[in-house]
Amino acid sequence: MIKLGGTRVPMREQKPEERIKNFKSVPLGYSEEEVIKEAQRCIQCKGLPCETECPINMKILEMIREIANRNFKRAFFIIKEDNPIPAITGRVCPQENQCEGVCPPYKRGHGINIGKLEAFVADWAREKGIKEEFHIKKTPEKVAVIGSGPAGISCAVDLRKFGFQVTMYEALHKAGGVLQYGIPAFRLPTEVVDYEIQYLDEIGVDIKLNFFVGQNIKFNELREEFDAIFLATGAGAPFFMDIEGESLKGVYSANEFLIRVNLMKAYKFLDFDTPIVCKGPVGIIGAGNVAMDAARCALRLGVEKVYILYRRTKKQSPARDEEIQHALEEGMLLKELISPKKFVGDEDGWLKEVELFQMELGEADKSGRPRPIKIEGSEFRLKMNTIVEALGSMPNRLFLSRAPELEVNKWGQIKVDHNLMTNIKGVYAGGDAIRGNATVILALGDGRKAAQSIRKYISSKSRS
Ligand SMILES: Cc1cc2nc3c(=O)[nH]c(=O)nc-3n(C[C@H](O)[C@H](O)[C@H](O)COP(=O)(O)OP(=O)(O)OC[C@H]3O[C@@H](n4cnc5c(N)ncnc54)[C@H](O)[C@@H]3O)c2cc1C
Repeated sequence: MIKLGGTRVPMREQKPEERIKNFKSVPLGYSEEEVIKEAQRCIQCKGLPCETECPINMKILEMIREIANRNFKRAFFIIKEDNPIPAITGRVCPQENQCEGVCPPYKRGHGINIGKLEAFVADWAREKGIKEEFHIKKTPEKVAVIGSGPAGISCAVDLRKFGFQVTMYEALHKAGGVLQYGIPAFRLPTEVVDYEIQYLDEIGVDIKLNFFVGQNIKFNELREEFDAIFLATGAGAPFFMDIEGESLKGVYSANEFLIRVNLMKAYKFLDFDTPIVCKGPVGIIGAGNVAMDAARCALRLGVEKVYILYRRTKKQSPARDEEIQHALEEGMLLKELISPKKFVGDEDGWLKEVELFQMELGEADKSGRPRPIKIEGSEFRLKMNTIVEALGSMPNRLFLSRAPELEVNKWGQIKVDHNLMTNIKGVYAGGDAIRGNATVILALGDGRKAAQSIRKYISSKSRS
């Protein structure tokens, strides 16, 4: 393989002034010639740091070699061995902290664009209708997977490949978890998610939608019916600031705001039933990926002034560099070192102002970032007609209250051992349900690990 080195092949994107008028993908993807050129830049360094840093240890170098030789089909099969949803991870993984971050030319700003190579190959296979072929040996054992986000998907796929009968329960009317309801289509197009979900049907996973375990069926009934259970219920219950005025009209949690926009398609209101009231100025509280997604959705809903209200500074923001960059290009405004004290409403109960404290940075806290400290007496007000709180989330309390025997930690995350088994024999858990707010690739890795553990558990049961 040629080792060209050199600078990164630029990714074509929709221009900011165009893209804030639509929800279509911002990156336009590589052409065949561009993707080959980008792959040929790889210097194939020893020790494969990119693969070591990948949480699921994908065979990245083999994929790159095949792309460089224009063998896209082979590249696709190589990725699929480790990753059931490459079109998704290629788009949303924080590659700068993983595979690309350890690629030697990354320090010069020119690491191999591994995520975009992966997404190209997966999109190419989708367009050509190329699928993995495998023979499923049927076994009588039944496994229930609760939740259809990345953890549930990867576990269900592997369990089917092992031959088990798999039933997946999903509370919402569409499968995909955060991939479907949280991450907006301009970052992760809906047709990409739908295609990856369709694969579950094709390999024979029985998906039951609109089915909340703990409500439509008791958790203990499932335990009787199935040989093992995987809990992939995510962390969909938002944290709130718990301050005065939070129940005013115009104050949303990021979950509600993003579900309305992405899953219920409120931006196409009238064609779709769900409306959204999003009057400017809009303030987003928080500065992670979820906050950036909410800000960029608000801009696409036509709001002129969208502010990130952040208690630290841009340098400490947990959002991906690419997301902050894209949001700033689109017109998002960043107000640093401020934190809300209360929300103030008008006589009709609509939000009209936010009262905020000025903050300063102190010593580093457990996260390694400087602790934000309120400056007493610094209160001031900003006119805001909409607030979206993007403060993180925790596992669903309703489900946990219906499964009281499950052990959880103080944040409501399900406790597991090193095999991802909970305190209940035969019941496993993974993804955000055990980690809080994590990433797609970590959830996917948990799903795969749990599938292996379930296989061992079921075979030990049938031997005894
Ligand atoms: C707005 C947003 C943007 C993000 N951006 C990124 C990003 O760019 N990159 C990245 O890597 N990560 C990102 N993340 C994080 C990532 O999406 C999550 O870490 C990942 O989706 C967790 O996967 P999961 O399978 O554990 O749970 P989820 O994706 O949350 O799926 C859980 C599913 O379980 C269902 N469920 C819950 N309880 C029940 C029940 N009792 N019965 C039936 N079904 C149930 C839920 O309805 C949901 O569909 C983002 C998250 C959000 C919210």
